[in-house]
Amino acid sequence: MGTRAHEPCPVCGTLVRLPDRLVSGGVTVGRESDLCPRFRGRQADGVRHLKAEISMCPSCHFAVRGDFSGVDLTPDERDELAERLAGDGLLKVFGSASPGRPWLPFHAAEVSGKGRDLPARELGEICLRASWVCRKELDRPFESAFQTRAIRHFIRSLKEDPLPDRTLSVVVYLVGELNRRLGQHREALNWYANAERTMRDGGLEGLTWLERMIEEQSKLAEAEAA
Ligand SMILES: [Zn+2]
Repeated sequence: MGTRAHEPCPVCGTLVRLPDRLVSGGVTVGRESDLCPRFRGRQADGVRHLKAEISMCPSCHFAVRGDFSGVDLTPDERDELAERLAGDGLLKVFGSASPGRPWLPFHAAEVSGKGRDLPARELGEICLRASWVCRKELDRPFESAFQTRAIRHFIRSLKEDPLPDRTLSVVVYLVGELNRRLGQHREALNWYANAERTMRDGGLEGLTWLERMIEEQSKLAEAEAA
């Protein structure tokens, strides 16, 4: 029996119960083609594992991946974040609904992350995870919405963030795969080809799983486009 940790919200000071870390280390059995982990056990457990990554304040909806310990805000930043969170439409509509939507903490983490100027790649990772949770919950419209947002952040990160070769190839592949899942097959094929090129340029022979994935998903996109 572990005692659950509480931490004050860096924005409004509310004492927040952090997600139970015990559930975060779920046993994964492989990954889907958009790198969503497959968890052993029931679908609901998978959602719980994914959600355990995010800490969200229930009063102001400030949210981060991990816990609040690394968050250090100036009073101005605090005010700005509080305003941004209070003005967000989705948080306004779904923030007090019970039971809460499973994607809400991820959306809150994206809004908070934008307010803290997190790198675009980090925002993309948050939206990608939100899309995984939506898929596990069979919420198709929100899955697509978060995939679209992940693509936008990832493309910006390719322009702005210094990505190591390995990460670069994975991000480029993901932009392709998310496009394919959204039915944009030609876009997807272009991005898969780009991903292959970045692997060649980066001399990434060791990443055979990614090579295999690019090849399989390219074939799939070609078949779907026909
Ligand atoms: Zn708060």
